[in-house]
Amino acid sequence: MSKYIYFFGNGKAEGQSSMRALLGGKGANLADMASIGLPVPPGFTITTEACAKFYEIGEGELHKLLSAELDAAITRLETATGKTFGHGANPLLVSVRSGAAASMPGMMDTVLNLGLSPETVQAMIARTGNPRFVWDSFRRFIQMFGNVVLGVEHHRFEHELAAVKDKVGVKLDSDLDENALQEVVARYMRMVRKETGKDFPVDAREQLRRGINAVFGSWNNPRAIKYRELNDIRGLLGTAVNVQAMVFGNSGNQSGTGVAFTRDPSTGDNRYFYGEYLINAQGEDVVAGIRTPNQITLAGSRAWARSQNVSESDRKRNYPSLEEVMPEIFKELDDVRVLLENRYHDMQDLEFTIEDGKLYILQTRNGKRTAAAAVKIATDLIKEKMIDEATAVMRIDPASLDQLLHPVFLKSAEAKAEKLTVGLPASPGAAAGRIVFCADAAEKWSKSGEDVILCRIETSPEDIGGMHVARGILTTRGGMTSHAAVVARGMGKCCVAGAGEVDINYSQRTMKINGVTLREGDWISLNGSTGAVYKDKVETENPKLTGPFATIMALADKYRRLGVRTNADTPRDALQAVAFGAEGVGLCRTEHMFFEGERIISVRRMILVAETVKQLKAQLAAAGSAAEKAAIERKLAAPLKQYNQALEELLPLQREDFIGIFKALKGRPCTVRLLDPPLHEFLPHDAEGQREMAKRMDLKLSEVKRLVESLQEVNPMLGHRGCRLGISYPEVTEMQTRAICEAAVKVKGSRPEIMVPLIGSVKELQEQKAIIEATIAAVERENKTKLNILIGTMIEVPRAALTADAIARETDFFSFGTNDLTQMSCAFSRDDAEKFLGTYVERGIFEYDPFTVLDQEGVGHLMRIAVEGGRKTSPNLKMGVCGEHGGEPRSVAFCHDLGLNYVSCSPYRVPIARLAAAQAALRKREG
Ligand code: ADP
Ligand code: MG
Ligand code: MG
Repeated sequence: MSKYIYFFGNGKAEGQSSMRALLGGKGANLADMASIGLPVPPGFTITTEACAKFYEIGEGELHKLLSAELDAAITRLETATGKTFGHGANPLLVSVRSGAAASMPGMMDTVLNLGLSPETVQAMIARTGNPRFVWDSFRRFIQMFGNVVLGVEHHRFEHELAAVKDKVGVKLDSDLDENALQEVVARYMRMVRKETGKDFPVDAREQLRRGINAVFGSWNNPRAIKYRELNDIRGLLGTAVNVQAMVFGNSGNQSGTGVAFTRDPSTGDNRYFYGEYLINAQGEDVVAGIRTPNQITLAGSRAWARSQNVSESDRKRNYPSLEEVMPEIFKELDDVRVLLENRYHDMQDLEFTIEDGKLYILQTRNGKRTAAAAVKIATDLIKEKMIDEATAVMRIDPASLDQLLHPVFLKSAEAKAEKLTVGLPASPGAAAGRIVFCADAAEKWSKSGEDVILCRIETSPEDIGGMHVARGILTTRGGMTSHAAVVARGMGKCCVAGAGEVDINYSQRTMKINGVTLREGDWISLNGSTGAVYKDKVETENPKLTGPFATIMALADKYRRLGVRTNADTPRDALQAVAFGAEGVGLCRTEHMFFEGERIISVRRMILVAETVKQLKAQLAAAGSAAEKAAIERKLAAPLKQYNQALEELLPLQREDFIGIFKALKGRPCTVRLLDPPLHEFLPHDAEGQREMAKRMDLKLSEVKRLVESLQEVNPMLGHRGCRLGISYPEVTEMQTRAICEAAVKVKGSRPEIMVPLIGSVKELQEQKAIIEATIAAVERENKTKLNILIGTMIEVPRAALTADAIARETDFFSFGTNDLTQMSCAFSRDDAEKFLGTYVERGIFEYDPFTVLDQEGVGHLMRIAVEGGRKTSPNLKMGVCGEHGGEPRSVAFCHDLGLNYVSCSPYRVPIARLAAAQAALRKREG
C-alpha cells in the first residue's frame, strides 16, 4: 500500500527537501525546516500521487484510500498541538494549502482557518477571551471556503463586507469591531445559503475533505493551466496538499504577518532584508493589498520613505519597520534569513507570521527574480562561496537573458507615463518614437534623423526596410507569430503586436486608441516586454553588458564546447552580434539588401531577362546554320545586354556589402549563402513598379507584365529557388562569388565561406562548386593572390540529409538549415502552418511548435543521419546549424549532443545560445 501522507512538526519530519516531486516544493521545505528545528507549525502533506489519483479515480474513491491515514494524521496533529479538531475546549484550526513541485505563486488555492463553526467559535472565544479575533477568523474562513470550495464569487463577500463597513463607518477591515464582525458572519452565512442553496458546512471533517478536494481541483483551474503553459512546466503529477495547524497573525497588536526576500528580487542587491509586514493580519492580506504593508528593515523603510516623499518623522510614526516595532522578532527572523540561504544556497522567498510575540515560518522557496537579479545573485553567491561556477551557470534561464539586451524604460519615467492600451508583448525592449503609418515614411523620416515607431494594421515582407529603421513596431492585428512579431524578434526590435484597441486610418494618417486620436508625427512609446503603449516619449536607457552579466557570459564561454555564430546580413547586425559574443557569421543572406534603393531595379532587370537569356543561349548552342545562329544572336542581343548590365550593377553593390561585413568581423569567419528565395518575391506586382521597369528596360508594359506572370509559381517554396537558380543562371552564382572574393581581396584577414543552399543531390553541389572554384581561381589570378575560401552546403532538403555521405565528399562544411528542413520533413508550410500548429501543440501531437523548438524525433533524426553519413566520409567535417533553432536553448542542447561544431542565431540570441551551450555541456558532464 502506498503512503499518501507525510507528517511534520516538533523538530521532526517524515519528508525531506529532496522529495519535491512527491511533496511539492512547499511540503518538502516545510518538512525540511521542521526537521532542523525552525518554528514551523506542525502539519502533514498529502502527496502529489494522491492528486494524480484524485483525477484518476475521483474524489469519492480517493477518500476511501486516504481515510485511515488521514484520521491518523489528524490525531497526530491533535497530539502535537494539544488541540482537538472540530470540537472541544481548545479547537484545532488548520490551513489547507496547495503546493506543486514547481512553484506557481498564487495560481492555486488555499483555505485558512478551517475547522471553525458556531460551536468552535464559542470555545475559542472562551479560551482566548478575544472575541474580535475569533469572529475575524470566522468571517475570513467563510469567505475563503465560500469562494474556493463553494464557488461563491468573491465580489459577493466584498459587497456584504462593504455594507457593514459603511454602516459602522470604518474604512479598513481591521477597524471592524467584534459586533460588526459578527454581523459580517451572519450576512455571509445568509448570502452563502442563498447562493448555493445549502447551509455553510459546519462539520470540521467535511470541511477538511472538501477543502482537500478543492485544492486538488485547483491544479487544473484555468489560471494554473495557463501559468504552466507560459512557464513551460510539464510532466508533474499535480499539487500536494499541506494541512497545517493555524497560527494567528490577526490575534492583536503583538501579532502580524509578512513576506520577505533574502535579497532584492528585482535587482539582486544584498544590501538588506527585502520584505513587508502587516500588524494584526493574516497572510493573504499582504498579497491582496487590503492594507499597505510596511518594510521589514529600517534601511528598507527609509529607502521606501525617500521614494515616496515621506518625511522621517512621518515614517517613524505611521510606517515603522518591523526592526523598530519588534526588534527581537526581527533579529530572530534575520537569523532565519541567514540560516535558510546557507541551507539552500539561493535567494529565498519566505512567509512568516507572528502570533502574540512568537515567530513562525510558514514557507520558504527559491525566490522568483528578474534576469538582472538572477545574474547578480548567481555571481554574488560564487563570491560568497555558497555555490561553484557550474552551479551559477546552471541557475540562469538562458531565455531570460533577452530581458537584459534591449533598451529599457527608466522605471520612474514609465510609472508616470500615460498608458493608452496594452497589446501582445511580441518582442521585448522599450522604444519611443514618432508615429508613421508606412514603411516608406519610416525610411524617409529616419533618414532625416527622426526616431519612428512604425504603426501598421499588420506588416508584410515589403515593410522590412521600414521595420529595420524603426525604433519599434506596433500592429493592431496578428499574434505572437505574426510577421511583425517574428521579424521584430529576429531584429531584436521592440514590438507590440495585435493591439486590438488601436484603430488605424491609413488614408487620414491617424489612429484612435480608447478615445485618444494620434497623428503621424506624434510621439508614442512601446514596452515590448509588457505590451504597454504609452502616450508621448518615455525616457529609455541602454542596458549594461558589464558586471554580473559579463561574468556569467565569461563562465558560459569557459564551460561550453559548441561554437556560437550569428545570422547577420549587415555590418551593423554583425557588429552587434560580435558585441554579444558571436564568433563569426553562420548565415549571411545575400539577397537581404536587394530591396534597398536603386538595387531593386537592377535585381528586377536581372530576373526579368534571365530566363530569356538562358533559352536563347541554349538555342544558340543547338543552332545549325550560320544564318540561324545570326538570327538568334540578334534576338539575344538586347536581353543579354540587360542581363549583363544588371549583373555589372549588382557586383559592386554586393562587393561593398561584403566588405562592410568582413571589416566588422575583423578576421572572424563569415558564411555567405548564395541567392536563395524564389525570384518572384522580388518582382514588381503593382502597376507602378511594372511601368517603371518597362521604362528602364525600354520594353512594352505588356511585355513586362507577361514576364512577371511567367515567373509566377504555384508552389514557390518547392519551386525555382536555392541552388536551382544558380544551376539555371550560372552567371548569378559567378557574380556573387566574384563579389565575395573581391571583397576578401580588399579586406585582409577576412575568412569567407561560400554556402550553396537547397542542395538535394550531390550533383547540384558539384555543378555549383565548379563555377565557384573557377571564379575564385580567376579572382586569384587577376589579383595575384591566394584566397582561403571554404565551400560548403546547406543540409535542408531531406534528400540531402539521407545522401550526406556522398555530399560530404564535395564540401568543406554542412550547415543545417533547420527551418527548411522542418518545413520539408514535416510537410508544414511555414507560412500556413500557423493555422493548425496551435491545435497540434495543444493536443500534444507535437510537443512544441517545430519551427520554434527543434523536433528532435523527426527532424533531429534526419540531422543525425546526416551527421553520421557526413562523418563517415569526412571525419572532421565542420557542421553547424543556422536558422532560428540555433538560439533556442533546448535545440542548442540537442546540437551539442549531436556533436555539431557550432550554432548560429540572430544577434540578440547569441548570449542565450552561449549560455544554453554551456548548460548542455555541464549537463552532459553531470549525467
Ligand atoms: P500561496 O501559494 O498563495 O502563497 P499559501 O498556502 O502559502 O498560498 O498560503 C496563503 C497565505 O496564508 C500565506 O501568506 C501563508 O503564509 C498563510 N498561511 C498558510 N498556512 C497558514 C497557517 N497554518 N497559519 C497561518 N497562516 C498561514
Ligand atoms: Mg505561499
Ligand atoms: Mg533554407
